[in-house]
Amino acid sequence: MRRAGRVVAEVLDMVEETIEPGMTTGRLDMLIEDFIRSRGAIPGFKNYQGFPASACISINDEVVHGIPGKRVIMEGDIVSVDVGSIVDGFYGDSARTYAIGEVSEEKLRLLENTQKSLVAGIDKARKGNKLGEISAAVQAVAEAEGYGVVRQLVGHGIGRNMHEEPQVPNFGSPNDGPVLKIGMVLAIEPMINLGTYQVKTLPDGWTIVTADGKASAHYEHTIAITDDRPDILTVA
Ligand code: MG
Ligand code: MG
Repeated sequence: MRRAGRVVAEVLDMVEETIEPGMTTGRLDMLIEDFIRSRGAIPGFKNYQGFPASACISINDEVVHGIPGKRVIMEGDIVSVDVGSIVDGFYGDSARTYAIGEVSEEKLRLLENTQKSLVAGIDKARKGNKLGEISAAVQAVAEAEGYGVVRQLVGHGIGRNMHEEPQVPNFGSPNDGPVLKIGMVLAIEPMINLGTYQVKTLPDGWTIVTADGKASAHYEHTIAITDDRPDILTVA
């Protein structure tokens, strides 16, 4: 899983270098797929439940599951890129949101605080803690800023399948959920909105957007519970 995680991290580093105004999301997806395959890995999202691409690329009010295509990335956009890979039958899953050129102060703060919420959640991913401690930590950081924490989509266990038990919500009580044990691997992925937490699905059947049209950010790491500190697997 560390090897699958490393591929995903390298992809997201490559995107950081490459993404620019004028590029279509379809072009970016092609680069991502080529990169994953060049590392001897398999794109984890391609054909997953029928998803047609290797990355989910979600812009501004799109929360997650945006389908790459003809849309052009513009100056001032925030672009969430979510990538999965498979190495020797094991999955890695990670996402980052990129600021394209000059971005509004409001959006930049959303990105910073969504990252902060992920870090706070990861810090609670320790043996003996309740899973809900992760959820509550993410929610506390986001709601302190007045943001909406998406309810309809959650993080997840991960291993030989992309989505395994348990679900990892970004909200809830610290007393919720199972006790974390050494060897559990979780994808923690706050989806945080500038406005309401409510979302809807576009007619394409995939793209999730905010109900009020305000921007949303998404960061994700795959982490393992160890004897000591959480081990982030999606690092290069
Ligand atoms: Mg993901
Ligand atoms: Mg995930």
